[in-house]
Amino acid sequence: MHSKLNFRVPKNPLPSCLRLNDEQRQRLGHLTGLFDSKAFGDATEEQSEAAQYLTDRDLSFQQLELATSKWKVQDNDSSRASSLLVTKVYQCASGHYWSINTSRKQRRQYPFVGCLAFARITTEKKTGRIKNVFGFFEHSPECTSAKAIAPPPLFLHPVARNQAESLLTLGLTTSDVLAKNRKLVSTRFNSETIIEDKRLLLTAFDVCNIRAYLMKKNWGINLRNRPEDIVDDLFGENSTDAALREATIFYKPRTGSTDRFELVIASPKQREYAWKYGNNKMIFVDGTFGVSKKKLLAFVFLVIDDENKGIPVGFIIFSAPDGNMATHAGYDADILIKLFTEYRDGLQTFKKEKFEPKVKRFPHFMHL
Ligand SMILES: [Zn+2]
Repeated sequence: MHSKLNFRVPKNPLPSCLRLNDEQRQRLGHLTGLFDSKAFGDATEEQSEAAQYLTDRDLSFQQLELATSKWKVQDNDSSRASSLLVTKVYQCASGHYWSINTSRKQRRQYPFVGCLAFARITTEKKTGRIKNVFGFFEHSPECTSAKAIAPPPLFLHPVARNQAESLLTLGLTTSDVLAKNRKLVSTRFNSETIIEDKRLLLTAFDVCNIRAYLMKKNWGINLRNRPEDIVDDLFGENSTDAALREATIFYKPRTGSTDRFELVIASPKQREYAWKYGNNKMIFVDGTFGVSKKKLLAFVFLVIDDENKGIPVGFIIFSAPDGNMATHAGYDADILIKLFTEYRDGLQTFKKEKFEPKVKRFPHFMHL
C-alpha cells in the first residue's frame, strides 16, 4: 500500500556520505528508478506499518542496535539542532568502500562485495515517529551469501560506560577519565579487560563518543555540527531555549577571521541580584584567560550579598581575533568597555533608574 502523503524524492538521490567506488556509484546511478520511498503519517496504524516496513528490511531500531547488523550508520543527523527532524543514512557494510589510501587502519566485519544497498530514515526528534524512508534496499546476491570475516566489535561494559558518563558530567578531561578507567579495571576487575563479552578498557574514541552522547542528551547539542552553528542555535534569534533567550543580553556571532564572537549573559535572577547588591555598591570583575582551546575569554561580574557571599551576576564571553598568540593578548580596553556597557544597558532595560556600580577591578588588569 502506498502512502497518500506527498513525499518528494530528493533532487540528488544518492546521499553524498555513502562510501562507494566509481563503479558502484555508476551502477547505483542507473538504478535510481528502483529506489524505494515511503512516507508515513502520525496515525498509530501508519506508524505500525512503518515499523513493519523497517523490520522487513532489517532496519528496525532494535535490529540496527545489534552488533551483527549489516547496516552501518554513515551520517547521523547533519541537520541543525533547531530542526525538528532527525535523518540518518545507513549503508550496507559489504558495500562500504574504503580506498587503499585510507589513513586509519579499519577493521572490517564483512567483506567488501560491492553491495549497493543504502537507506535514509527520517524521524521526528521529539516523538521518534517515522516520517519517511528512502533508499535502495536490495542486497546483492554476493552480499546475501557473504559471511562475516571478523567477530562483531565488542560493546562497552556498562560499568565502564557509567563511570565515564559520571566523570564527564563532573567535567573531567579525557585523560583523567582514561586514567580512572584503568584504575577501575585494575582494582575492581583484577586487570581483566573483557567480561561477559563486553570490554572494560576505554579508548579516547569511546570517551569522545560518550561526551557527544551526553551533550546531545543533556543539552540537545549535536557535536557533529559546526561550533558556530551550535552557538547560534543556543543564543541566536531562532533559539528554541527560552531560558537562554531570556538570559542573553547581547550576542554577536563571529563572521570572519578578524571579527570576534561576543556574548553577554545574565539570567533574570542574576539581574535582580545585580540591582540589589551591585547598584551603588561594589561590583567585582574577574577574567580568565582562555576558557577553551578555541581561544575564548570569559569575565564574570560578582556582587557580595548580606551574608558576605559572592554571587555571580553576569558573564561576558568573547573570542580573540585570529593571529593572537596568547589568548590574553586578545582583549583590550575597547572590547571590555563595549561589552561592560552592553551589560549595564541590559540591566537598565525595563528600569527607569541608572545602574551605577562601583567597579572593582582585579589587579591583573589595573592597566585598563
Ligand atoms: Zn548488502
